[in-house]
Amino acid sequence: MSTAKYSLPGNENLNVPYGAPLIELIDMRKTYSTSGTIAVEVLRGISLTIHAGEFVAIMGQSGSGKSTLMNILGLLDRPTGGIYRFAGRDVTSLSHDELARLRREAFGFVFQQYHLLPSISAVENVEVPATYAGLAPTERRKKAMELLVRLGLEGWAEHRPNQMSGGQQQRVSIARALINGGAIILADEPTGALDSATGSEVTVLLSDLAAKGHTVVLITHDLDIARTARRVVEIRDGAIVSDSGATSAPDHRIDTKLSDKLSAASPLSDMREALAAGGRALAANPFRTALTLLGIIVGVAAVIALLAIGEGAKQAVLAQLSIYGANRMYVIPGGGVSRGAGGRLLASDADLVRSVPNVAAAMPYLNGSVTVRAGNVDYSTMGTAVTTDFPRILHWQVEHGVFFDQADERSFATVAVIGSKLASRLFPDGQDPLRRMVLVNNVPFEVIGVLASKGAISGSSDDDDTIVFPFPTGSVRVFGKEDLSWISVLVDDTSRADETATAISSVLTAEHHVEDIRVLNQIASIQAQDRTQNTLTLLLGFTAAISLAVGGIGVMNVMLMTVTERTQEIGIRMATGARTIDILRQFITEAMMVAGLGGLVGAVVGVAAGMTAALFFSMPVIFSGVAIAGAVLCAVLTGLLFGFIPALRASRLEPVTALARE
Ligand code: ADP
Ligand code: MG
Repeated sequence: MSTAKYSLPGNENLNVPYGAPLIELIDMRKTYSTSGTIAVEVLRGISLTIHAGEFVAIMGQSGSGKSTLMNILGLLDRPTGGIYRFAGRDVTSLSHDELARLRREAFGFVFQQYHLLPSISAVENVEVPATYAGLAPTERRKKAMELLVRLGLEGWAEHRPNQMSGGQQQRVSIARALINGGAIILADEPTGALDSATGSEVTVLLSDLAAKGHTVVLITHDLDIARTARRVVEIRDGAIVSDSGATSAPDHRIDTKLSDKLSAASPLSDMREALAAGGRALAANPFRTALTLLGIIVGVAAVIALLAIGEGAKQAVLAQLSIYGANRMYVIPGGGVSRGAGGRLLASDADLVRSVPNVAAAMPYLNGSVTVRAGNVDYSTMGTAVTTDFPRILHWQVEHGVFFDQADERSFATVAVIGSKLASRLFPDGQDPLRRMVLVNNVPFEVIGVLASKGAISGSSDDDDTIVFPFPTGSVRVFGKEDLSWISVLVDDTSRADETATAISSVLTAEHHVEDIRVLNQIASIQAQDRTQNTLTLLLGFTAAISLAVGGIGVMNVMLMTVTERTQEIGIRMATGARTIDILRQFITEAMMVAGLGGLVGAVVGVAAGMTAALFFSMPVIFSGVAIAGAVLCAVLTGLLFGFIPALRASRLEPVTALARE
């Protein structure tokens, strides 16, 4: 002898012994008390016992309380008084989710208005309760297709509800009621919206189900329809006025043994469902989805483009620094008062500067136009007399050969290092310049090195058209003068650049007894520029973050609208067994999908905007992978953050209130 099994929270399985009541309502009461109106008692002490396998019609005039009773029977609504025993267990105090679980295990609903989800196909509608019950996709698709075939809907599986007739839609909803077993079918005026012929077909279907052992509760205001049931209960003004009496159930009752499968729902498949549902919901309203996306797209694109431009500008400053040196200053002849009337600057002054604290190196620098002759051709170029500090101070290394050393300086060696451009002018066709003799202003020099190309970094190839020799040799034999062009100073600690400049100035003024030199100190201003750039980047990032937040508020706004709009969908989902977490997950997933999609599109737009700035406005632009990934992640988190409140709102709805909303 079979018994119906229902699992209740705590894995307590309730067995209904044969012949024992499945549903017992004792003195059930329901009072609606909307604020501002007097409380109306709609159910006034209903006591009703239904056994497993019965086919009961609840009949009564419109407004007599039938739907209210059905909502309570189906655990969609809570009574205000009375006891509800389901399989011998009081269920009036079960939680939201416990009720959802029992609902989807035991009940199948058929509504007057079908209550199908409009955005999904017939077969997907049938699958909804199985999804919440955690049935695997292939298994539930198979089951749903079988049910559709059984209900004469072969070939209609992929149609949307609005492409089907009323009778067909009602059959889809019956299939949906059956997919989790449908041990108890609750049908509220299932023929109410159908013409009489189609209505009869539906009634016959329900009779068949009853004959097959399903417990069927058919609610109707029509006596003829009520007569198809084996038992008729009539209610008037919220009270039972007649009951044809309990009937014996058919031998073969429907057993629902879903409890084992129920726990099989994995979070991963839940997530997949939520993603698919989210995708469908977004696709159902593409224009609004696009508008919502726009806020996020602008936000993310702004973050990425502005940060890239800010970083580009910053790196451009740093690149300038790396060419000219971030820790260099100059001492030039010439007083603060008038130009040109400056004093002299000698190599001994460079020695003095070297003794100032925080000075790492001080190099005399003497330059001027020279004529270089190689073979029988003369070239005019820039000649420079410097010390061995040259490569270090100017960040300019020898690429080929060597730089001169201090021994060369002391011995007045006639050795020279040439720039790469001069090298190719003097020695074309790949000749090796090393150890070649050149005449510099008629003094023979031996080329010992070629400098790396500075022009490649600075952008001016003239920088490479140069010849460099030891200071003593250059001063005495090439230029014939001691007056320096300037002294290049390298400082150790750039943060003390200003005081170092002042110290150099006072040392030289004391030595010369007159202030006839000037110290050009760009270090402080370069640092200030760098700081400004940092501030600017931060500011740009902040602006962009604000636009992202605005985008997030857009998402929240739309999600709130969506929840209001889709209240009925939420009700349908809850009636078919969705738990709070399922609804919450669905709406959060949707919000995150909009935001994430917006983030991805925004990333593409942002990179495109940055590249446009680089290509058409020659701005230096540097994209950061971290910034791009971060912006997209922020967008997704924005969706999570701003989608949470609407989602929570959706999940907190009572199924009956949600269902009633049109
Ligand atoms: P039936 O389904 O038999 O037509 P209902 O159960 O829908 O009747 O309604 C019974 C009575 O309860 C009606 O007078 C109706 O106006 C009232 N009613 C139903 N739902 C609500 C509600 N949510 N708030 C207030 N009154 C309600
Ligand atoms: Mg009704």
